[in-house]
Amino acid sequence: MRATQSKLEDIPAACAGQTGTTTQSANAFTMIELLVVITIITILAGMLLPGLNMAREKAKQTKCAGNCHQIDVAIHNYIDDHNDCIPYVADAGFPSPVINYWSENFQDYIHSEEILKCPSLERSFAVANHIRCDYGRNYSHISTKPPMVMTKLRCIQQPEKVMELVDSKRNSTAHDDSWLVYCPSCTTTNLTKQLNVHDRHNGFVNVTFFDGHMDPRRWVEIQSGPDRDVMWFH
Ligand SMILES: [Zn+2]
Ligand SMILES: [Zn+2]
Repeated sequence: MRATQSKLEDIPAACAGQTGTTTQSANAFTMIELLVVITIITILAGMLLPGLNMAREKAKQTKCAGNCHQIDVAIHNYIDDHNDCIPYVADAGFPSPVINYWSENFQDYIHSEEILKCPSLERSFAVANHIRCDYGRNYSHISTKPPMVMTKLRCIQQPEKVMELVDSKRNSTAHDDSWLVYCPSCTTTNLTKQLNVHDRHNGFVNVTFFDGHMDPRRWVEIQSGPDRDVMWFH
């Protein structure tokens, strides 16, 4: 009995001592845990955010491809109605204060200005008297402008390799030139003009070809790849 009582008496003291120690170590452990959790979250966020950004950009690229498809259909409807002629890129020489872009010259076929906007391009400027157009057409070699003869679709021997529409952006500080792209073979002394072609989709340019298919390409492939001359109809 004495032994039992003695044991019972010992318990509060032992528990009190133990409780004090546990509270301190629990607090210390919580702080360490918190730091570890914060570190893990920081590392995970660092790993996941680029992936999320890439996924978000991929969704925009898909929407852009949808725009390109609708513009391609509009261009081919125009061709069907105009004796196989591909619409002019501009209605006058460029630059000119009175010029209309290709995108403004066949509104009957385009229907919506929204399809001319690439969702991945941030534009901080407004273009007075013009419709925003984030897609460039070949200003060097295909139905450039009147009075040049319009290029007929049947003249393009390899429509699956010749570029019809390209993700582009403005480079000139004087005027909006985002609606056209220049053949790099003809503008080798002017690198700035080559920068109209814009690789805004995770390093890729959405390119639509004259057979209607869309295929993302690297900027360097468009400017200096082995198929460059065919792509530009040089
Ligand atoms: Zn795009
Ligand atoms: Zn050329």
